[in-house]
Amino acid sequence: MNPEQRLDDWIGRARTVLPQNWPFGAVWAIHHEHGPYPHFVERADGARFWDVTGRDYIDWFVGGGVATLGHRHPAVQRAMLAQLERGVHLSLPSPLEVEVAESLCALFPGAEQVAYGKNGTDVTSAAVRLARAVTGREHVLISGYHGWQDWAKAIRAEVPGIPAALRGLVHEFGFDDLAGAERLLHEFHGQVAAIVVEPVRTGVPSPEFLPGLRQLADRHGCLLVFDEIVTGLRVARGGAQALAGVRPDLTCLAKSLANGLPLAALLGQRRWMRHLPPTFFALTYQREALSLAAARASLEVFRKVDVTAHLARIGEAVRAAFAAAAARHDLPWELRGHPAMLHMHFTAVGRLTARGASTLFVECCQRQGIYVQLYRVLPCLAHSDADVERTASVFADAMATVRAASTAGLAAFLDSPVWNDFENAPPPPQVKWEGSGIASGAWLEAPAEFAAPGCTWVRPAGDVGQLAAQPGQGIRFRVPPLGRQRSSDLAIDLLPSFAGDFRVAARFSIPSWHVGDGVLGVGLALLGEGAPGWHEITHQTSFGQTPQVRASLAENVATVPLAYGKHAATLVLERRRGVLRAACDVDWREVVSAVPAAGSPCRVRFFVRVKGPTTGEVAVALEQMKVEVEPDRA
Ligand code: PMP
Repeated sequence: MNPEQRLDDWIGRARTVLPQNWPFGAVWAIHHEHGPYPHFVERADGARFWDVTGRDYIDWFVGGGVATLGHRHPAVQRAMLAQLERGVHLSLPSPLEVEVAESLCALFPGAEQVAYGKNGTDVTSAAVRLARAVTGREHVLISGYHGWQDWAKAIRAEVPGIPAALRGLVHEFGFDDLAGAERLLHEFHGQVAAIVVEPVRTGVPSPEFLPGLRQLADRHGCLLVFDEIVTGLRVARGGAQALAGVRPDLTCLAKSLANGLPLAALLGQRRWMRHLPPTFFALTYQREALSLAAARASLEVFRKVDVTAHLARIGEAVRAAFAAAAARHDLPWELRGHPAMLHMHFTAVGRLTARGASTLFVECCQRQGIYVQLYRVLPCLAHSDADVERTASVFADAMATVRAASTAGLAAFLDSPVWNDFENAPPPPQVKWEGSGIASGAWLEAPAEFAAPGCTWVRPAGDVGQLAAQPGQGIRFRVPPLGRQRSSDLAIDLLPSFAGDFRVAARFSIPSWHVGDGVLGVGLALLGEGAPGWHEITHQTSFGQTPQVRASLAENVATVPLAYGKHAATLVLERRRGVLRAACDVDWREVVSAVPAAGSPCRVRFFVRVKGPTTGEVAVALEQMKVEVEPDRA
């Protein structure tokens, strides 16, 4: 298998067995599910990683802020190897637990004792249970992200599976919003067990925020919990609390603690921590020692090297590079926040919405080997000035591309699909809904005349459309005059969701076609081989026997005749920037299909699934064609 085929193989297998986190949760799906690179990491070293196709990237995500010393830091590697020889999971606490706890207590102002967990959620949950136990209260105020468990996620009504009884116990206030926290404390007077806060987030708080929270917690008799899972050992060795000069009651620590090994820590003042044992904070892997060895070695590096100064210096250099590139391309974009945990701030540009512009930016960076994930830039000790220089030049290139797309539209620039909310809708055509000028992948609006009162839907007889596949332009789709309806050109782009596995990404909507009493019939037909008429494929067709086709992509474009039974079609495969696009000459005709309520706007989507590799000699299987009609709720 060549590297691209290996990638296809991994993607196919992952989709089969991984329900989620493939490639990521919904948050990142837009880049990883549909974007071109990278899908699977094979190995990482320092500030770099290599994906399964062999491409390498400068890693500005470092495992979500975990590998703060860089991947495979030698001192941490050595410590882990030594611990491997001594045993990984021990039956009783090892001296390492004591040593790491002593180091943490020396570093963090709010720490007198330490309890270990494996994930951030373990220790935020332990903190909240402890606060509830010692105060006898149930309500919790939060500000930031504190993990996936019920007590925290109860704040999100859209997350299912959380008992209703928990929903009313957690309340959120904004970052840097002291007044908001105070309002909630008054509203739930005498009922709040803890204020849990990420002390530094996408921004740096104003000087009065954290001391103000300390005062509020004292006044209202609740515990102040700093969630320093990202900030601890990143913004300063003693975390944000050291920077702010505030001593929280409890502190949650994870990411930078063991440089990639799963270890979290709950730090706290002794007067609270002594109440921890009865709360039953017990974990199967509590005595796991490899991560403790990694933590001891990491903390030793933090003691000897001014890691956080390096992160801040690199972060400031990246920020300056980003600002310079943005200024050159007249974009009001910024990297905001603490230099050791920068946050990208994007705006809409021309035709592009902020989401579309940022998606293109991130995709361009990834294409050129700079791994940034929306929306963070996280420096590590292994990032060098040369990394910053390379990143600066890619940022500038990516912004130039965004500028070009801001007038020309995304279709020609983005390898992943162009979604509805990536571009502002083009102005509706004025006179005729016909001819050219309708961007591939855009949502198309029928002119108002189609919705005119009295306009009736005419059920077409015979052939109702023609399609021609044009390499690089997707399919031009012409609907001939139908009664009072004018003919129109619709452009459909077939874009790969992954290399080798394609869906029609662009959709067109017909928001105001008058359906009247008739039936909006939509279907797909393959051109009949030698036969004059259309052959129907109803609105979902699976090819029982997948037709296999072979084509050479030496020229980057191949036209492949497809045959299935008596049906035939032409598949146009085109490779652009390393990604295969497929277009198929399918047609639209009246076949009875899903029928939206008469007169209601609807949305029509075509899907064509094609499976196959993307380079060299390709064997492509047309797997499925389907069309969906659904009411347009947009
Ligand atoms: N708090 C913060 C600030 C975090 O960033 C995270 C994880 N991203 C968590 C809590 C939860 O940690 P985990 O995913 O390890 O449970």
